[in-house]
Amino acid sequence: MVQKQDDVKLTLPLLITYGDVFYPEYPTAIKIKRQASLNAVKTSTKDFNSLVFVVAQKNFNAEKIEINQLNTVGTICEISLGKESKNVVSATINPLKIVNLSDFYYDNENDIYFASGENRTIEVKNTSAEIAIFKKILELIDQNPDIFRTFPKDIMDQFSKGTSAERFCYAVANFLIPEYLEKQNFLEITNTTDLLKETFNAILKQNELRKIETELNENIRKNSEKVQREYYLREKMRAIKSELNDGESDDDKILEQLEKNPYPEYVKEKVKSELSKAQMMPPGSQESGLIHNYINVLMDVPWYQETEDNEDLTSVKEVLDKNHFGLEKVKERIIEYLAVKIMTGNLKSPILCLFGPPGVGKTSLAKSIAEALNRKFIKCSLGGISDEAEIRGHRRTYVGALPGRIIQGMRKAKVRNPLFLLDEVDKLDSTYKGDPASAMLEVLDPEQNYSFNDNYLEEPYDLSKVLFIATANSLYDIPEPLRDRMELIEMNSYTVLEKLAIAKGHLIPKIMERNNLPADLITFHDEAILYIIEHYTREAGARELERKLETIVRKILVEFLLKKRKCKRSIDVKSVKKYLGTLIFESSKKEKESQVGVVTGLAYTSYGGEILPIEVNSFTGTGRLVLTGSLGDVMKESCSIAFDFVKSNAQKYGISAEIFEKIDLHIHVPEGATPKDGPSAGVAITLAIISCLTNKKINADIALTGEVTLRGRALAIGGLREKALAALRSGIKTIIVPKANKKNVEELPIEVIDNLKIEYMTCVDDALKIMEVNDD
Ligand code: ADP
Repeated sequence: MVQKQDDVKLTLPLLITYGDVFYPEYPTAIKIKRQASLNAVKTSTKDFNSLVFVVAQKNFNAEKIEINQLNTVGTICEISLGKESKNVVSATINPLKIVNLSDFYYDNENDIYFASGENRTIEVKNTSAEIAIFKKILELIDQNPDIFRTFPKDIMDQFSKGTSAERFCYAVANFLIPEYLEKQNFLEITNTTDLLKETFNAILKQNELRKIETELNENIRKNSEKVQREYYLREKMRAIKSELNDGESDDDKILEQLEKNPYPEYVKEKVKSELSKAQMMPPGSQESGLIHNYINVLMDVPWYQETEDNEDLTSVKEVLDKNHFGLEKVKERIIEYLAVKIMTGNLKSPILCLFGPPGVGKTSLAKSIAEALNRKFIKCSLGGISDEAEIRGHRRTYVGALPGRIIQGMRKAKVRNPLFLLDEVDKLDSTYKGDPASAMLEVLDPEQNYSFNDNYLEEPYDLSKVLFIATANSLYDIPEPLRDRMELIEMNSYTVLEKLAIAKGHLIPKIMERNNLPADLITFHDEAILYIIEHYTREAGARELERKLETIVRKILVEFLLKKRKCKRSIDVKSVKKYLGTLIFESSKKEKESQVGVVTGLAYTSYGGEILPIEVNSFTGTGRLVLTGSLGDVMKESCSIAFDFVKSNAQKYGISAEIFEKIDLHIHVPEGATPKDGPSAGVAITLAIISCLTNKKINADIALTGEVTLRGRALAIGGLREKALAALRSGIKTIIVPKANKKNVEELPIEVIDNLKIEYMTCVDDALKIMEVNDD
């Protein structure tokens, strides 16, 4: 039957805990979940005077009980059952003594564990060492009175009246130590000295932990105070700002706009992070101003806005025809180009490049394409740009930084699919400040331009929906890699008759409209227009002509205003002279008379064609060749080739071989201020030298163009149309061109073919035969 607790060895039901350790005299409330434990408690109440052994299992996480996994030191406790609810029973245990346990066994039938236990005696030493440790403990408590704040008040009261070392140590283990292993360790100590030592260590450790905890708490408090403070200040600032603005603050408006519109996520993120940066800065400060500028630019750039393209090719063609006279081939190619774009739905085909002399309608044609497609039109002139940053923008760290021209253009366009005209791609300069052409490559290359990088903008920008059209005067000055990526469309100089048609059909109506005048108020006679073309302009295109016509209209407008009445006016040659004053150009620049040593060549400049008189003189000297007239390297080479050819064929032309050592030869191309270069004057120079040395005149009514080889052959040339038109303008009657250019002759305007005789040459001698004037 039941044995008393003082008995040497007891057998009692076993309450096995998940890591709970109990010390004598410190009652505790527990919850019992395990059926075996519940059975143990119930049996104990019934048959064992409510006494149980309480022991922790070593693996305190394990659900299943393993007898060999039980600690052998536990506590004998009195237990009273409390409320029972849903598999959990609450109970209060009153630990009586520490016991050594053995003979564990499991009663399978009743599902109860039992063990035998005997009292474990604690050796009380009362040595001076114990007193010293205890003093230390008291010192520690004195310095850190907070240590015992987790102790129940009644226990503290009892301590103040005095207690045994054992009881004090178990209190510390019970209320201060959270870890199971340490607790179990405490239970297994067998003498008071060790108990005191462990207690001292435990207090020290807890004290350290408490300090760390206090520090952490302090940090958390400070941080949360800072966050709260910032929040409070920001709210206050927002309130003040909105008060000043009589309503919403600017930042609110920005955020609202950001949320309302489909900006890309990365732009939204950027604006928000910039806004919060700005909010940290004093309002009105320079930094905050810069950030707001940046936000403005970032949000102003069109990220999602688009116009809808007109995909009806017939109406596109109508608009192009309406705005421009002629240019059939050019228009046709543009229509083809657009057709591909419309069919494929992407802009991945090469960029269009319209090239030709100034004033031939490149810009206005691009404008018409924009109008026809219903796209916004933006123009950016690249002429003279030498700094890459002009295209790509400056980093925001620069003072006065701005986005580059491309992004500025997009900002102006306000939509992400405008027609973007890149004017004068041939005038890009590359210097130490970087190569703008390489930045342009990124703009124009369909493989790269979906994420164009602007230094200021910082976020990648998609240019793939933009229709870029480039213009250039000279094809050969376009940087090679750029030229590769473009579809080149040539626009030629106009003939006089074409200019007349353009003036009547387009320029004059446009000028009248611009000046707000009825179309029929001023009429120009054809002769008057032709007179302006001949005597007041010398150009490949129609720009100067437009200016002159506008000057006349403006002058008439002033007269109307002075007289306070408008009446119909018709402009004839006489009134042109009156309004435009002295003639600027004589009708012909050609030499009036045939002369020795003077040959008329033809040149192709970026301003159209020009006649190019070449003069050669000889005088006593030592065989030197003097060149003047701002000749470029190619022309200089042509001169020495021509000279050497004449030298080696001197006999054939009746020139004495010795003469070359006795004379100097001077070749001059007048209008020295204009630089001249190009591979097409060789034959003319050769003829001029021969003429000079043979003293035979060269026909001034004939001009010629062609490069010469050392063997005297004439090589094909470019720009025949421009050269032929220039010849015609200058009163030349015949031109001689290399035979290899016959196919280009067939493409000349009818007006040229009708008025200009064209002869062919294969070598210098062919030309000489035609041009030499036989005086007899
Ligand atoms: P570019 O860009 O080639 O230097 P512009 O486009 O500025 O030349 O043209 C100059 C002027 O000549 C513009 O007013 C343009 O409308 C007019 N123009 C040129 N070619 C034509 C044409 N074929 N039909 C109608 N107007 C033309």
